[in-house]
Amino acid sequence: MEQEKKLPLSLYGLSPEDITELLELPKAFYGKQIYAWLIKGVSSFDEMTNLPKYERERLTQLMPSISSSIVASTDTDESGATKMGIRLHDGAIIECVLLVDKKGRHTACLSSQVGCAMGCTFCRTATMGLLRNLAAEEIIEQYMHLIRVSVKPITHIVYMGMGEPLANIAAVTRSIRFFHQEDGFNISLRRITISTSGVVPGILKLTEQRLPVKLAVSLVVADNKIRDRIMPINKKWDLNELKRALLHYQRLGGKRFTIEYCMLHDTNTDEESAKKLAYYLKNLDAKVNLIPWNPAEDMPWETPSEEEVDRFTHFLDRWNVKYTRRRPRGREINGACGQLAVPINKGLEYDFLDEDDED
Ligand code: SF4
Repeated sequence: MEQEKKLPLSLYGLSPEDITELLELPKAFYGKQIYAWLIKGVSSFDEMTNLPKYERERLTQLMPSISSSIVASTDTDESGATKMGIRLHDGAIIECVLLVDKKGRHTACLSSQVGCAMGCTFCRTATMGLLRNLAAEEIIEQYMHLIRVSVKPITHIVYMGMGEPLANIAAVTRSIRFFHQEDGFNISLRRITISTSGVVPGILKLTEQRLPVKLAVSLVVADNKIRDRIMPINKKWDLNELKRALLHYQRLGGKRFTIEYCMLHDTNTDEESAKKLAYYLKNLDAKVNLIPWNPAEDMPWETPSEEEVDRFTHFLDRWNVKYTRRRPRGREINGACGQLAVPINKGLEYDFLDEDDED
């Protein structure tokens, strides 16, 4: 007896050929047409008006849902950020954010997991724990949903939403290859950033794969004792191991990376912290992004004052550390760094883009 074909949860992430085969389309170019609709953000066969009506009806019966659904979309805040909650096939809800920088570039900030196991104490997503990894198509779909609310093409992608991307590296790299496809979104790898809390095996794997995306490392502090307390991952891969991995990444052609420095009041903003950071960055081709912690309820941290941030930048100048000071984006909608978690889940963060970048 012929076995029933198992359909995927979504068509996003499949090639036109895969779509033709999977849906047993009578003509190969139907697969191309469906693919073209999908990358325009269309999410039902009914809207694919260049397919014959009988074919649309057959496909709708075969696969009533071809993507996840949007459950909530916040208003756009002053900075241009829009946060969106998406319900997946199993009912789990994830979040993604559309960010607009001062140059008008539109960036999709995507989640890679439902929740996160890393336990960073400054991050709302950590309070959910890890529920599961996302499949590549579930990552891709977030981008598709954001396209619909974006007034301009989304040209940049950052994996800085919920989850640790390097703990789900297979799905993340598959989604990157999809975004990069020439006949699809054709997004340059230089416009894609993966942010990690410091998953050393993931950095090594990324190095091996020679996938020249940008890497951002959430360092927070260059002192093992303090980092152990703030980011439990440091107990597994401490600053020395992390630096070795970053040097390896750099040696094998990795692009200049970003050090995310989430500033916590009275914790990592003194001169000693600046000095240790300067020492840690020796031989690393990295730039530092200073991100004052985004306030989130029930978290044990405080946002540093403007004066505290100013003072720290003077210390950094004194120790010759190059840095960029970020303006918070998405804060009003709990869509800023460390604020993603589900009550639409929990919060989004990172101000990752290099605003000096011409890209
Ligand atoms: S900051 Fe990133 S890695 Fe750390 S808990 Fe939050 S989502 Fe996970």
